[in-house]
Amino acid sequence: MNLPWHDALLSRFRQLADKGELAHALLLVGETGIGKKECLYSLASSLLCEEGPLLVCRHCHSCQLLAAETHPDIHYLVPEEGKAGITIDTVRAVVEKINQTAQVAARKVILVPDAERFNRAAANALLKSLEEPPPETFFLLSSALAGRLPSTIRSRCQIHALNSPTREQSRAWLQTHAGDQAAIDELLSYWPGKPLLVAQQGQQWLERGAALQTAVSATLAGKGTPGKLAKQLSGYSLSDICADYYRLLLEMGRFLAGLDSAILSAELRDAVHKARPNAFNLLRHAQDVLGLSRAMQAGSFLNEQLASESLLAELQACIEQ
Ligand SMILES: [Zn+2]
Repeated sequence: MNLPWHDALLSRFRQLADKGELAHALLLVGETGIGKKECLYSLASSLLCEEGPLLVCRHCHSCQLLAAETHPDIHYLVPEEGKAGITIDTVRAVVEKINQTAQVAARKVILVPDAERFNRAAANALLKSLEEPPPETFFLLSSALAGRLPSTIRSRCQIHALNSPTREQSRAWLQTHAGDQAAIDELLSYWPGKPLLVAQQGQQWLERGAALQTAVSATLAGKGTPGKLAKQLSGYSLSDICADYYRLLLEMGRFLAGLDSAILSAELRDAVHKARPNAFNLLRHAQDVLGLSRAMQAGSFLNEQLASESLLAELQACIEQ
């Protein structure tokens, strides 16, 4: 994947490799949603290309295997399915593989996205390999939460920062993925500097937002019962709905205070204008929504349909009779 804001760092890696100063354990830090994994994958590809070092010819056997995602000399250290953290067993299995000779390329690469997920025992099991890796073996780690990494791991890595793209870089890249400029701008105002997050989750986010605004507009206009309107939201998770709804309520409060809103749909602006819900009640309702979100994060189990229904009923109660 060609992400233009990676170019400067990738050419820095090339310079280091030319001077023989590219470390065998490298930690890439930076925000979520800017493509750290993709950046490390580009570096891994160029380390494995047979025309190398640090080229991607796209023709050699290694490059073809990389394109098919079947290269035997690239290994991943990630949590096993159903587990939150990287365990000692996973580390041991990978260490065993890298102690064997490379199968196709002249080098071996271990990719560790979300490196903060090591538990203590797993981190300890990796230390020796990080400090004295087998010949021609590269550990490429990345993390948006580098502060959570055990200091024993951090101190054994050469640390590089990947800068977030500018707004213009984000827009230009997203335009090649999605044509709707207004939607891109709206999404980037929520996730500034995170174009990959926008690309991955944007479409569903937009659809959910539109469904929510329609249900809220209808509730304010008295068109349909909360039970019926809540059914229109049943395809989305309640925790996502709560997060969106909380932001929407604050935005409605701003609109009632006379500020313009680029986020509220024309339909919702009209409904708010006509129903004139009490701004103080809306903010209190927003606090309740936040409370509900936190309860769910803490593991409370709720009937999602009934919970959405009661949120819309509470919204109706914000309209002064
Ligand atoms: Zn190649």
